[in-house]
Amino acid sequence: MLFAHDTECSLIAAAALVNTAGRDGDLLPDVAALDAFFARHAYTGRHEHTEAELHAVRELRPRLRRIWHADPPEIVTLVNGLLLEHRALPQLIEHDDEPYHLHAVPRDAPLATRIAVEAAMAVADLVRAGELRRLRICEFPDCDNVVVDLSRNRSRRFCEAGCGNRAAVTAYRARRAAGRS
Ligand SMILES: [Zn+2]
Ligand SMILES: [Zn+2]
Repeated sequence: MLFAHDTECSLIAAAALVNTAGRDGDLLPDVAALDAFFARHAYTGRHEHTEAELHAVRELRPRLRRIWHADPPEIVTLVNGLLLEHRALPQLIEHDDEPYHLHAVPRDAPLATRIAVEAAMAVADLVRAGELRRLRICEFPDCDNVVVDLSRNRSRRFCEAGCGNRAAVTAYRARRAAGRS
Protein backbone atom coordinates (compact mmCIF):
# COMPACT_ATOMS: atom_id res chain seq x y z
CA MET A 1 0.00 0.00 0.00
CA LEU A 2 1.42 3.34 -1.07
CA PHE A 3 -0.96 5.63 0.77
CA ALA A 4 -3.28 5.22 3.74
CA HIS A 5 -6.11 2.79 3.08
CA ASP A 6 -8.81 5.46 3.27
CA THR A 7 -6.86 7.66 0.85
CA GLU A 8 -6.61 4.91 -1.74
CA CYS A 9 -10.27 3.93 -1.38
CA SER A 10 -11.40 7.54 -1.69
CA LEU A 11 -9.30 8.13 -4.83
CA ILE A 12 -10.59 4.96 -6.48
CA ALA A 13 -14.18 5.85 -5.65
CA ALA A 14 -13.75 9.45 -6.86
CA ALA A 15 -12.31 8.27 -10.19
CA ALA A 16 -15.07 5.69 -10.58
CA LEU A 17 -17.66 8.39 -9.93
CA VAL A 18 -16.12 10.76 -12.48
CA ASN A 19 -16.03 7.94 -15.02
CA THR A 20 -19.75 7.25 -14.63
CA ALA A 21 -20.10 10.37 -16.80
CA GLY A 22 -17.65 9.11 -19.38
CA ARG A 23 -17.27 7.60 -22.79
CA ASP A 24 -19.81 4.83 -22.21
CA GLY A 25 -22.72 7.19 -21.54
CA ASP A 26 -24.18 7.98 -18.14
CA LEU A 27 -23.59 5.04 -15.83
CA LEU A 28 -25.34 6.71 -12.92
CA PRO A 29 -28.79 7.22 -14.42
CA ASP A 30 -31.00 6.36 -11.46
CA VAL A 31 -31.22 5.68 -7.76
CA ALA A 32 -30.58 1.96 -8.28
CA ALA A 33 -27.27 2.75 -10.00
CA LEU A 34 -26.29 4.96 -7.08
CA ASP A 35 -27.21 2.16 -4.67
CA ALA A 36 -24.89 -0.15 -6.60
CA PHE A 37 -22.11 2.46 -6.54
CA PHE A 38 -22.59 2.87 -2.78
CA ALA A 39 -22.30 -0.87 -2.24
CA ARG A 40 -19.38 -1.37 -4.64
CA HIS A 41 -17.28 1.24 -2.86
CA ALA A 42 -18.33 0.06 0.60
CA TYR A 43 -19.75 3.39 1.73
CA THR A 44 -21.40 3.50 5.12
CA GLY A 45 -23.40 6.22 6.85
CA ARG A 46 -26.29 8.24 5.51
CA HIS A 47 -27.83 6.99 2.28
CA GLU A 48 -31.24 8.35 1.29
CA HIS A 49 -32.03 6.44 -1.91
CA THR A 50 -33.67 9.62 -3.25
CA GLU A 51 -33.61 11.57 -6.51
CA ALA A 52 -32.23 14.55 -4.60
CA GLU A 53 -29.29 12.53 -3.34
CA LEU A 54 -28.70 11.14 -6.83
CA HIS A 55 -28.80 14.64 -8.30
CA ALA A 56 -26.24 15.95 -5.80
CA VAL A 57 -23.85 13.07 -6.49
CA ARG A 58 -24.20 13.50 -10.25
CA GLU A 59 -23.53 17.24 -9.91
CA LEU A 60 -20.29 16.45 -8.14
CA ARG A 61 -18.81 14.64 -11.15
CA PRO A 62 -17.66 17.66 -13.22
CA ARG A 63 -16.26 19.30 -10.08
CA LEU A 64 -14.17 16.25 -9.25
CA ARG A 65 -13.10 15.85 -12.88
CA ARG A 66 -11.57 19.32 -12.78
CA ILE A 67 -9.03 18.02 -10.26
CA TRP A 68 -7.70 15.63 -12.92
CA HIS A 69 -7.31 18.39 -15.49
CA ALA A 70 -5.93 21.12 -13.25
CA ASP A 71 -2.32 22.06 -12.64
CA PRO A 72 -0.99 21.72 -9.08
CA PRO A 73 -1.73 25.26 -7.86
CA GLU A 74 -5.28 25.01 -9.15
CA ILE A 75 -5.67 21.57 -7.55
CA VAL A 76 -4.71 23.08 -4.22
CA THR A 77 -7.33 25.78 -4.71
CA LEU A 78 -9.98 23.19 -5.60
CA VAL A 79 -9.12 20.98 -2.62
CA ASN A 80 -9.08 23.87 -0.17
CA GLY A 81 -12.35 25.12 -1.65
CA LEU A 82 -14.09 21.77 -1.10
CA LEU A 83 -12.76 21.47 2.46
CA LEU A 84 -13.82 25.02 3.31
CA GLU A 85 -17.22 24.76 1.63
CA HIS A 86 -18.11 21.67 3.65
CA ARG A 87 -16.42 22.89 6.86
CA ALA A 88 -14.21 19.84 6.99
CA LEU A 89 -12.98 19.01 10.48
CA PRO A 90 -10.82 15.88 10.44
CA GLN A 91 -11.47 13.37 13.18
CA LEU A 92 -10.04 9.88 13.65
CA ILE A 93 -12.86 7.34 13.70
CA GLU A 94 -13.10 3.54 13.83
CA HIS A 95 -16.31 1.81 12.80
CA ASP A 96 -17.61 -1.31 11.03
CA ASP A 97 -14.33 -3.20 11.60
CA GLU A 98 -12.42 -0.45 9.78
CA PRO A 99 -9.24 0.61 11.58
CA TYR A 100 -8.77 4.25 12.52
CA HIS A 101 -9.22 6.55 9.55
CA LEU A 102 -10.16 10.15 8.99
CA HIS A 103 -13.68 11.49 8.65
CA ALA A 104 -13.81 15.20 8.06
CA VAL A 105 -17.60 15.56 8.04
CA PRO A 106 -20.18 13.70 10.15
CA ARG A 107 -21.47 10.33 9.00
CA ASP A 108 -24.96 11.79 8.67
CA ALA A 109 -23.77 14.48 6.23
CA PRO A 110 -25.23 14.06 2.73
CA LEU A 111 -23.56 11.41 0.59
CA ALA A 112 -22.37 13.91 -2.03
CA THR A 113 -20.77 15.99 0.72
CA ARG A 114 -18.95 12.98 2.12
CA ILE A 115 -17.71 11.88 -1.29
CA ALA A 116 -16.50 15.41 -2.07
CA VAL A 117 -14.69 15.80 1.25
CA GLU A 118 -13.16 12.33 1.14
CA ALA A 119 -11.87 13.05 -2.35
CA ALA A 120 -10.46 16.40 -1.24
CA MET A 121 -8.74 14.82 1.78
CA ALA A 122 -7.27 12.08 -0.40
CA VAL A 123 -5.98 14.53 -3.01
CA ALA A 124 -4.51 16.57 -0.16
CA ASP A 125 -2.49 13.47 0.71
CA LEU A 126 -1.20 13.29 -2.87
CA VAL A 127 -0.25 16.96 -2.78
CA ARG A 128 1.68 16.48 0.47
CA ALA A 129 3.44 13.41 -0.87
CA GLY A 130 4.35 15.13 -4.15
CA GLU A 131 2.39 12.43 -6.02
CA LEU A 132 -0.15 14.39 -8.06
CA ARG A 133 1.07 12.77 -11.27
CA ARG A 134 -0.79 9.67 -10.12
CA LEU A 135 -3.92 11.43 -11.32
CA ARG A 136 -3.99 10.96 -15.09
CA ILE A 137 -6.27 10.76 -18.07
CA CYS A 138 -6.56 7.39 -19.83
CA GLU A 139 -4.08 7.20 -22.72
CA PHE A 140 -6.29 5.16 -25.01
CA PRO A 141 -7.29 7.23 -28.08
CA ASP A 142 -10.60 9.05 -27.58
CA CYS A 143 -10.99 7.83 -23.99
CA ASP A 144 -10.99 10.67 -21.52
CA ASN A 145 -11.75 8.60 -18.44
CA VAL A 146 -9.72 9.51 -15.40
CA VAL A 147 -7.13 7.18 -13.90
CA VAL A 148 -5.70 6.85 -10.41
CA ASP A 149 -2.34 5.18 -10.70
CA LEU A 150 -1.68 3.32 -7.45
CA SER A 151 0.91 1.02 -8.99
CA ARG A 152 4.29 0.92 -7.33
CA ASN A 153 6.20 1.97 -10.44
CA ARG A 154 3.60 4.49 -11.69
CA SER A 155 3.02 2.36 -14.76
CA ARG A 156 -0.75 2.51 -15.06
CA ARG A 157 -1.77 4.13 -18.35
CA PHE A 158 -5.34 3.06 -18.97
CA CYS A 159 -8.68 3.39 -17.20
CA GLU A 160 -10.71 0.62 -15.58
CA ALA A 161 -13.19 0.50 -18.46
CA GLY A 162 -11.28 -2.05 -20.53
CA CYS A 163 -8.84 0.28 -22.30
CA GLY A 164 -5.88 -1.83 -21.17
CA ASN A 165 -7.33 -4.78 -23.08
CA ARG A 166 -8.21 -2.61 -26.06
CA ALA A 167 -4.66 -1.28 -26.19
CA ALA A 168 -3.23 -4.82 -26.04
CA VAL A 169 -5.47 -5.93 -28.93
CA THR A 170 -4.53 -2.87 -30.99
CA ALA A 171 -0.82 -3.49 -30.40
CA TYR A 172 -1.22 -7.19 -31.29
CA ARG A 173 -2.97 -6.36 -34.56
CA ALA A 174 -0.32 -3.78 -35.40
CA ARG A 175 2.41 -6.37 -34.84
CA ARG A 176 0.62 -8.92 -37.01
CA ALA A 177 0.08 -6.38 -39.78
CA ALA A 178 3.75 -5.43 -39.61
CA GLY A 179 4.72 -9.10 -39.80
CA ARG A 180 2.71 -9.65 -42.97
CA SER A 181 4.04 -6.70 -44.88
ZN1 LIG B 1 -15.32 5.59 7.80
ZN1 LIG C 1 -9.89 4.45 -21.03
